[in-house]
Amino acid sequence: MNLRRKLGLDILAEKYSYSEDPQYGHTSAQKIPDRWVPTTCGYCSVGCGMFIGVKDGRAVAIRGNPNHPVNQGKLCPKGLSEHYTLEAPNRAKHPLVRRNGKLVAVSWDEALDTMVEKFRATQERHGPDALGVIGTGQLVTEEFYTLGKLVQLGFGTRNYDGNTTLCMASAVSGYKLSFGSDGPPGAYEDLQKADVIFLIGANIADNHPILCQHLEANPKKTLIVADPRVTKTAMMADLFLPLKPRSDIALLNGLMHVLIQTGQIDCEYVTKHTTGFADLVKSVEKYTPDQVAQITGLGEDLILKIAYLIGNAQAAFIGWTMGVNHSTQGAETVNAINNLALITGNVGRAGASPFSITGQCNAMGTREAGFTSSLPGYRKFENAEDRDQLARLWKIDADRIPTSRGLAYPDLIEAAISKKIRALWIIATNPIVSFPNLDVLKQGLETLDFLVVQDGFHPTPTTELADLVLPAAIWGEKEGTYTNSERRVSKVNRAVAAPSDAKSDFDIFLALAGKLGCRDELFPGWTSPEHAFEEWRQVSQGRICDYSGLTYELLEQHHGIQWPFPEGTTEVGTTRLYADGRFPTEDGRAKLFCIEWAPFPEQPNQQFPFVLNTGRTVEHWHTRTKTGQVPILEKMSPNAWLEMNTRDAQSLQLKPHDRVDVISRRGRVRNVELRVTEIVAPGQVFMPFHFAETNANQVTHSAFDPISREPNYKQCAVSVQLSGSAKEECGKNRRRKEISMGGIQ
Ligand code: SF4
Repeated sequence: MNLRRKLGLDILAEKYSYSEDPQYGHTSAQKIPDRWVPTTCGYCSVGCGMFIGVKDGRAVAIRGNPNHPVNQGKLCPKGLSEHYTLEAPNRAKHPLVRRNGKLVAVSWDEALDTMVEKFRATQERHGPDALGVIGTGQLVTEEFYTLGKLVQLGFGTRNYDGNTTLCMASAVSGYKLSFGSDGPPGAYEDLQKADVIFLIGANIADNHPILCQHLEANPKKTLIVADPRVTKTAMMADLFLPLKPRSDIALLNGLMHVLIQTGQIDCEYVTKHTTGFADLVKSVEKYTPDQVAQITGLGEDLILKIAYLIGNAQAAFIGWTMGVNHSTQGAETVNAINNLALITGNVGRAGASPFSITGQCNAMGTREAGFTSSLPGYRKFENAEDRDQLARLWKIDADRIPTSRGLAYPDLIEAAISKKIRALWIIATNPIVSFPNLDVLKQGLETLDFLVVQDGFHPTPTTELADLVLPAAIWGEKEGTYTNSERRVSKVNRAVAAPSDAKSDFDIFLALAGKLGCRDELFPGWTSPEHAFEEWRQVSQGRICDYSGLTYELLEQHHGIQWPFPEGTTEVGTTRLYADGRFPTEDGRAKLFCIEWAPFPEQPNQQFPFVLNTGRTVEHWHTRTKTGQVPILEKMSPNAWLEMNTRDAQSLQLKPHDRVDVISRRGRVRNVELRVTEIVAPGQVFMPFHFAETNANQVTHSAFDPISREPNYKQCAVSVQLSGSAKEECGKNRRRKEISMGGIQ
């Protein structure tokens, strides 16, 4: 104990003194900043506008931007506490190289020389595509654009994908197939204008909380929620559809069957703006209400009622997230949703949209400007004219641009196991917690000759495996733009300096280009993200995601602007795509696809009788590298849990708070707290996936959508049993109880 405390003088006056803030009034003096820096939240794709309060060079407070159209001043718990991530104890501060099994600090020069030398040697020995890169949805768009050029034209490998394949690839593929391009057609204001809102596999109350305020602002809506679990969003619904896991395609086909049979479709829209209707009619013939009731577990009356509501809606909004995307039929489910929207004419009008709610803060930015499943500006690798256009813009030979996409994320891991990928660069993602079937991933990473992990945090379970760690700046420390789920491009600003040696990802990419000798060719004169933005404006010109009229000043002035925003635009933003019914397909029409329902691949059986569903909770973000270090969030949700229905718990003689193991054919998650609840139906269990210590991906499986390559995180077969020590203790207690009851009898 120090002397001041001993003498009773240590009253922490500084910590607990209050003062007057012009915004907040009477508040903690420590939290009254010298200045407020406007920016955009760096967690989810809702894209809330906020201010970071800075005092003496440190971020001390956050407040919502009351003039921002997305959130009008409100923020969720993650956004409100985001500034704590900047000074988290696990920030990566120095470049580290593995020597004699240990990561040791080195200079940036040495780190980047080592990286370039190792990557070059690997590519010389095993071919250019022996190098793989896994990016993220966490960077600013300017960084995606720079990284894409660096990877594909500088390092010369096609094998580049992002963690966005783990969450949004099905939405991207589904949009491209149905409409000819990616890009959510609607806007958040449609939630306020629709008279029917149909959410499928979308627990926005936990995952996109601020969207709920748009729902609440719509008094005339009927909210329908389809989910196997009674989520917080389901509790807000007027009509809840507790459908069986992965029966959504059958439900959608069944709704279309009823709508077609009863003539509740928009024939004029179908005739003018779609192809494939005759085949669709035939393909949904067999999805009669009684058939669909059997597959989904929903009553026939309910199916008819939902069809009636959608068929008679002036404007129906159909939104979805991971419940749809995380599936071996994810892209097809998106096509089925698009079918339903198209045949009822619910595209491109106020309140009417098939709307994918994206995951990460800038997953949309990587979709627009990245170089992974598309070329920048949603150009196609396979299209010679698209490649020629880019080559002209970049003043390079067109044959340097790949003619097909490289390996998708899961295929990169497979290729690492089979030694086709020898060196890997992972940027701002933590696959050891987020990738399905952990053992397979570990095998892939351990087989590599050289692994580089670039991240704002260290240690993470993934940086601990790296041969080289590059420390990166994070949200709040760098500048650029994010695009949210409604195509709104918003400004992201630097409020404080990055810790120690950490650099922005943009600066790391430019420094690497310098080492490779391609900086002058690919990034002539670039020193700041705005240089990348200026080039991206030109590259996006004339494309669906046209940024050519946007400037940083305009974005600040309007609190974000929706694309497309071509040069010369005077009105702010295009609220909706396809308002004229023209789609970027060859014939200008949207395509209706025949989609068949199929059971999910790993069905429960006697040995593994439960279907495990994985998901999120409002307090945490992805693998908790950030939120696990924010005390208020971590205290609210410190551990994983397993939800099990009361009937199943009774039949297994389990009780609330028992510690259980979750076991699949692939592994075991140990010592998870049991929650006995009616939130999940009998035969199903649910577990959040954020927790490295009790990693749900020890039991999930390697099943991927053949079109989008997105993992099937949502259904796998598991068993549940009391954990080892708990089992013994429980056994002893039960024996004691039996003995004492025997005594009484
Ligand atoms: S809803 Fe999303 S964008 Fe808004 S504050 Fe919360 S995490 Fe940030």
